[in-house]
Amino acid sequence: MLEAVRVTLDPTPAQERGLMSHAGAARFAFNAGLAHVKEMLEARERPAWSLYALRRWWNANKETLAVDASGAPWWRENSKEAYNSGLEALSDALSNWSKSRKGQRRGRKVGFPRFRTKDRATPRFAYTTGSFGLIDGDPKALKLPRIGRVHCMENVTKRVGDAKVLRMTVGRHAGRWHASLTVERPDAAPRPAPTGGTVGIDLGVRTLATLSNGTVIPNPHTLASHERRLKHAQKALSRKSGGSNRRRKARERVARLHARVADRRRDLLNKLTTMLASTYSDICIEDLNVAGMVGNHRLAKAVADASFAEFRRQLEYKTVRTGARLHIIDRWYPSSKLCSNCGSVKAKLSLSERTYHCESCGLTIDRDLNAAVNIQVVGSAPETLNAHGGNVRRNGARRRATRDPMKCEPSSGGNRVRLGANARKSVLQAKTN
Ligand SMILES: [Zn+2]
Repeated sequence: MLEAVRVTLDPTPAQERGLMSHAGAARFAFNAGLAHVKEMLEARERPAWSLYALRRWWNANKETLAVDASGAPWWRENSKEAYNSGLEALSDALSNWSKSRKGQRRGRKVGFPRFRTKDRATPRFAYTTGSFGLIDGDPKALKLPRIGRVHCMENVTKRVGDAKVLRMTVGRHAGRWHASLTVERPDAAPRPAPTGGTVGIDLGVRTLATLSNGTVIPNPHTLASHERRLKHAQKALSRKSGGSNRRRKARERVARLHARVADRRRDLLNKLTTMLASTYSDICIEDLNVAGMVGNHRLAKAVADASFAEFRRQLEYKTVRTGARLHIIDRWYPSSKLCSNCGSVKAKLSLSERTYHCESCGLTIDRDLNAAVNIQVVGSAPETLNAHGGNVRRNGARRRATRDPMKCEPSSGGNRVRLGANARKSVLQAKTN
């Protein structure tokens, strides 16, 4: 299994200049290659933009391209890996654009790559071949060819363990340099799942998560608490004139504040997902259309803040490690509108209604808890149908509430509500009970 290990670097000022130079080399190769591809397109030649073709072109022309004012070539100052990673990024960008244009790529339309400017592009380059990475007997450092031994903020050898390092990307974000190692870990022997049973999780807006057993994990709203400082810093930035040193410093301050919020958020999510993956045997979550939700202005900030996509990504790899099973419920399943006790579906439920009240059976329950219970029930079908999370044998206890089976039908356009593979089975069985 491939994994990413990200560590913060602690370079000396001289090394930092070397890192910047390498990132600049990657950008230079990207831009030179892009200019070359544009020329080919304008000359109506058949463009050759595979990484192999770009690399061959670069090696044939670097003596004339990468020269200073006096004509002396400078490309030897940086590792060849830096130029290669620029060309690799260009090749990927062109291939994404081409596939997107032909309709072979899902997601948002990808435009034609643009030149990278020193101000706007994130300084970044990568090592893929040669002797880079961990250093024997020096656990808190990494070897970067041409730059040397760079000290790390943590024990990187311990974090990589027995995995094989395939790639090392080095980049600068919010004033700090990071190395991201792509490592291949041998698949661990299958482990018995944790014994905590099944849990459904509703990812919320007011709270970060509500578990079907009633546990509530509050939202840190770190962004909100940093908002005033951030606003202040952004105002200060807008007053600085373009291109000045003070503007650069103000921009760095805003970036640091954003990074601090992101770090705290990642830390909290990591703790939560580790707890979930090592406690429960089956974890049921909803497949949320995060891109769609962020487009909604009222929800946008809270959703971005709570980082749904990151939550799911962490759960996906952590459950593989601990042996827990992750069940993802189709995003059209009406988990909020469905009554977890009798199964009737509300036509309308506004976001401001924090308590779910069912007209059919009289259930009054916290909105998020109701959704979490529904998610748990659907995710663990067909064994469970009980509203409060207990296991019910199919021929065992009768459901408490009397209910009209018709109420199970979605209120409008039955075919618009798609259920997950297991969910459909469970709801159909629920109706015939
Ligand atoms: Zn009900």
